[in-house]
Amino acid sequence: MVDELLIKNGRVIDPANGIDKKCDVLIVDGKIAEVGEKIQDSRPKTQDQRTVIDATDKLVAPGLIDIHVHFREPGDEEEETIASGSAAAVAAGFTSVVCMPNTNPTIENETDVEYIHRKGRKARKTHVYVMGAITKQRNGVELAEMGLMAEAGAVGFTDDGNGVQDQSVMLRALKYAAMFDVVVAQHCQDDGFAGDGVMNSGYYSTILGLPGIDPLAEEAMLWRDIQLVKKMPPGRIRYHAQHISTAGSVELIRAAKEKSLPITCEVTPHHLLLTEECCAEYDTNYKVNPPLRGSKDVEALKQAVADGLIDALVSDHAPHLQSEKELEFLAAPFGIASLECALALFVKALIEPGVLDWPGLISLMAEKPARIIGVDKGTLGVGKQADVTIIDPDAEHEIDVNKFRSKSRNCPYHGWKVKGKVEKTIVGGEIRFEA
Ligand SMILES: [Zn+2]
Ligand SMILES: [Zn+2]
Repeated sequence: MVDELLIKNGRVIDPANGIDKKCDVLIVDGKIAEVGEKIQDSRPKTQDQRTVIDATDKLVAPGLIDIHVHFREPGDEEEETIASGSAAAVAAGFTSVVCMPNTNPTIENETDVEYIHRKGRKARKTHVYVMGAITKQRNGVELAEMGLMAEAGAVGFTDDGNGVQDQSVMLRALKYAAMFDVVVAQHCQDDGFAGDGVMNSGYYSTILGLPGIDPLAEEAMLWRDIQLVKKMPPGRIRYHAQHISTAGSVELIRAAKEKSLPITCEVTPHHLLLTEECCAEYDTNYKVNPPLRGSKDVEALKQAVADGLIDALVSDHAPHLQSEKELEFLAAPFGIASLECALALFVKALIEPGVLDWPGLISLMAEKPARIIGVDKGTLGVGKQADVTIIDPDAEHEIDVNKFRSKSRNCPYHGWKVKGKVEKTIVGGEIRFEA
């Protein structure tokens, strides 16, 4: 580990501290020591203790944080491991990720949480956090060991992949999580409306002869959860709606935020870039849950980002084996592996059309996600752990799934021409990725 790292001449963007200017960042012993113009190191140091990075024409941002990834370990290590997922994460600029608990077995007690943390430390790439399950085996019946998982460092709870169907179970989960000041995240899906649907219900599901998932499946559960949050006494309760995908959900979030309810939400690149029409060739790389929706939904989500209603941009990186994705559309698993191109996809979806500027994007990929999971990260404040992502905002390149560090290739963006590339990823003051 280098003792000192000096990043010179970059455009430093630190939304949490209102910084967007050309300056230097000095890292000493793994912490941010100074952010300012023309930092000269006054102390005598031998050359090998100090590394100088020239970041001219580059963006220097707080390390990016993806609060929604599936690393498939334990149980499906042929699809992804914490080691392969972590390597993909730092190559994509993510200094922290949050693994979902829908592994095999489910992450539902403190031993499971510690297992993920241990594997993450061993991988020595990105910080690996985990959300524990809300209910045992994510079957929606009996609450999991939420208190013990919170003590072990779980940064949230979710039954991701499933929505919690029983309202009384969900109410108890919210009350219980509030005692530990941990966020409850919901994969909003009312199974009564979702049925055995495999894509958005509408014109395309009809002509393709595929069972549809009505937007109401998402909106009904989101509406119900908002009512539950309203019933809770004010205090430490925090509710997070995962991967919202419909115009109706945007309106529910808008109304909830106008009432200042403790509700946050996230959106994925695929719900900002792709529509249900993509399923027309039965390509299972477009089979994802919640499903790709209509163009009006995509526009509503972009408007929601512009209006400040979205709190985090996440990949929902969901790796799957090619052999599984080669099954027919009805049988193939849901999910897109997009961790490694997530930043460039958000640039395409949000910066290129002028929905966000770079400080706005960095805020939704670092500062605000850190707040949702309650970790002291997402800024370049002096004294903070030095997690830094250096980005070349103008670098054009083509997405090539064959170059992914991820073990899986189920990604519909292969061959897309995109802009914005990660140059270096620094985790705790160590350079963990260099382009
Ligand atoms: Zn989900
Ligand atoms: Zn997910």
